[in-house]
Amino acid sequence: MSTETFEFQVEARQLLQLMIHSVYSNKDVFLRELVSNASDALDKLRLAALRDDTLDADVSDPHIEIEIDASSRTLTVRDNGIGMSYDEVGRLIGTIANSGTAKFAQELREAQEEAGAEGLIGQFGVGFYSGFMVADEMTLLTRRAGESHGTRWSSRGEGTYTLARVDDAPQGTTVTLHLKPADADDQLHDYTADRTIKEIVKRYSDFITWPIRLVPQAVDGATADTTDAEATADTAPEPETLNSMKALWARSRDEVSDDEYHELYKHISHDWREPLETVRLQAEGTFEYQALLFVPSHAPHDLYNQNYQRGVQLYVKRVFIMDDCEALLPPYLRFVKGVVDAADLSLNVSREILQQDRHIRMMQRRLTKKVVSTVKDMMTAAPDRYATFWREFGAVLKEGLLTDSDNRDTLLAVSSFATTHSTDEPTTLKSYAERMKDGQDAVYYLTGESRQSIENSPHMEAFRAKGIEVLLLTDPVDEVWVDAVGEFEGKPLRSVAKGEVDLGGEDDDKAEGEREKQGEEYAGLLDWMKEQLGEDVKEVRLSSRLTVSPACIVSDAHDLTPALENMYRAMGQ
Ligand code: ADP
Ligand code: MG
Repeated sequence: MSTETFEFQVEARQLLQLMIHSVYSNKDVFLRELVSNASDALDKLRLAALRDDTLDADVSDPHIEIEIDASSRTLTVRDNGIGMSYDEVGRLIGTIANSGTAKFAQELREAQEEAGAEGLIGQFGVGFYSGFMVADEMTLLTRRAGESHGTRWSSRGEGTYTLARVDDAPQGTTVTLHLKPADADDQLHDYTADRTIKEIVKRYSDFITWPIRLVPQAVDGATADTTDAEATADTAPEPETLNSMKALWARSRDEVSDDEYHELYKHISHDWREPLETVRLQAEGTFEYQALLFVPSHAPHDLYNQNYQRGVQLYVKRVFIMDDCEALLPPYLRFVKGVVDAADLSLNVSREILQQDRHIRMMQRRLTKKVVSTVKDMMTAAPDRYATFWREFGAVLKEGLLTDSDNRDTLLAVSSFATTHSTDEPTTLKSYAERMKDGQDAVYYLTGESRQSIENSPHMEAFRAKGIEVLLLTDPVDEVWVDAVGEFEGKPLRSVAKGEVDLGGEDDDKAEGEREKQGEEYAGLLDWMKEQLGEDVKEVRLSSRLTVSPACIVSDAHDLTPALENMYRAMGQ
């Protein structure tokens, strides 16, 4: 069979270089990544077999196997899961997810400048490739369940990889690492020692629901010295299962360490960083379920993509049913990752059925409340973590102000906004209300593209002059929710760019008289301007809102804002 050589993508090559020369302190995680992939492959096989009973696949003993050969310094991780076709190997193993995007390239550069290779690996986590932290060559032999031919992939991590079709490959995937030469002063990281492998599996992969077995190493000399029946295959020691396979979400809180929760998060989310928050919920009664949810510490690149993969997995009595189960949480919580395990669903429940199921809807309501209240608690108990949360996910959460009237009040309470009151600290509406001036009857805001462009707006002049605080709203969703919500604790939310603004204050009576006089004085000018501008404006009037700029354009209180006008125009309306 012919072997073809291919080049890695540019970004993949850069990351590989970093892996090979890595000084990343925690190299052990390569095994977590390979086991995680193997576990995913077994989940996928189970689902494929469930959906298609004509699939010609072996599903009798799904498991993951680790084999060490100390003499040749190889470490093998094998699974009998779904496997990959020839095309899939080229597509999945030769590229890095999201790496084509401009945002990815930029973050790659930034991370490298900030934290060097260590930060880069910690931040991007490059799954399969992490093997190159400990190996100078990796091979992968795979056969997709139901297909007759297999594929061999091989690389030294240096810019190219080879692909070959092979006739005889077992179903599933076998990854072999040719370990780098032993590091004399690094006893802890001897990956040819059973002890090391056992510890790593226990630490990172204990909860994996499939058995992870360690194949016993042939003891040196054993076969040569033993001549009797003991040496026969019948008495060869049995592989040892290294993980407990216990579902973390089914165990009580005090039995599980934070680290264990975090490892589950990393397996589910494919994120290498710690989550920001862990949310547990155990519901008993007629519809029993357990949930273990995580709020990540960073927003993913593709959170606003149409086909963003959500991260909540559905299990039924410990059996994995589906990834990305959208019925479990509303779209505005799509960044939440985790597991929901329901006791009373059928194993072949479909997405369509889930959408209509009454119990699932009740579950969604309860999970939503729980996540939102977690954010609320974080706000008071851990302001720093809340600040991170808001920076990463605030814009998404605000979508809930529009769509989730049940939780609107809580969502409004946990929202914070940039404000003229402070250049770096955002404010809640509650704090804003506490600072409102005597006689101020509304919460003022202005929407725009950036803080700077809003601050430079002529609409802001009078507010600045009078020292009235204005919220500076820069997310596209801000245009919409302020109208939908309308008020906060009885005070209307009012745009400083719409209609007449009555700023109150003591010197207003005096100003009133003066304005009337000015009105008469400038009547001619105003008429002339109206004539000149014609159809383009509804009205030209004297304003009390400007202190420096000679004029500004104001829309009617009920008109669309310019940004929304653009949005609707773009939609062809
Ligand atoms: P991730 O797991 O985050 O997708 P990886 O680099 O770990 O990224 O793996 C890339 C892809 O390669 C996986 O998404 C999967 O499709 C495929 N893959 C990796 N290992 C296996 C395996 N053991 N069996 C089947 N497919 C695999
Ligand atoms: Mg992976």
